[in-house]
Amino acid sequence: MLLEISRTSLFQELDGYPGRKRFNTWKLAEMASRAKSGSKVWLQEMRWQEVEKLRNSGVGLAVIPVGSVEQHGFHLPAGTDSMVAIRLAEDAAQRTGVLVTPPLWFGWSPHHLAYPGTISIRPDVLSEILFDIVSSLATQGFNRFVIVNGHRIANIPWIQISAERAQRELGVRVLIYDPAYMSKEIADRLGFGKVGHAEEIETSHMLHIMPNLVRMEKARDYIPPERKLYHVDPRIPKDTVCYVPGTAKNLEQAAKDSGGGHGRPSLATAEKGSELHEHLVGRLIEVINELNGARND
Ligand SMILES: [Zn+2]
Repeated sequence: MLLEISRTSLFQELDGYPGRKRFNTWKLAEMASRAKSGSKVWLQEMRWQEVEKLRNSGVGLAVIPVGSVEQHGFHLPAGTDSMVAIRLAEDAAQRTGVLVTPPLWFGWSPHHLAYPGTISIRPDVLSEILFDIVSSLATQGFNRFVIVNGHRIANIPWIQISAERAQRELGVRVLIYDPAYMSKEIADRLGFGKVGHAEEIETSHMLHIMPNLVRMEKARDYIPPERKLYHVDPRIPKDTVCYVPGTAKNLEQAAKDSGGGHGRPSLATAEKGSELHEHLVGRLIEVINELNGARND
């Protein structure tokens, strides 16, 4: 009951966005049947007539996966955050029939540049490119967007700036979905420790979606000393100063201490990853349905 009330209030503000009123149950049925038929969801695999058909049938919603290319310790690949966002977007879209844009692989990762392979884009570039993606599709009649961010807190401010601008200037609705914020309930149930970096949460998820890229034998547990007034995990209900990425010096030290990871990847399992993934896909489907005016119960 409580959950129902909070969900309702979360989405109350959606009522005013363009397109909501045009959406009806016929379109939802159309979406459901398309989802069942296992049609394509990736924009880059479609011809323009297929995209037009999708738009004309009322499915004017696009999911945009965003991540990062940055070091993930000794055992996970650099594209971990993007791979998580891509798989969540793909699995939720296949079950709802919405469009997924090509992923934006790069994010804001200045704090990981000390490690070979990290590629960081400037925050204004991130905001601008997201705005351009939304703006292009808005020109063609898409009016609802869900940005799936796999890079947690580091990308969020710039996505927020872009989303707010898109809503104000283009009259569209944009929601931001981040796995770290959408798994607070299940993370405790699965016994995960704090959100760190390349920790048991990301490692379990990758063991489920990309097991061939995980080198568990190289994983190293490392719990940094507790900082009393600094917590980046959204599950921690304690006073905290706000997040600012670490300096290159901090990260060079972390490379020596842990290979770049924070947390206990040794506790990761594919089973936990599977449960986490299903929870996250379910939540993303709820967000998509709410945005499309459907009931989730
Ligand atoms: Zn990550």
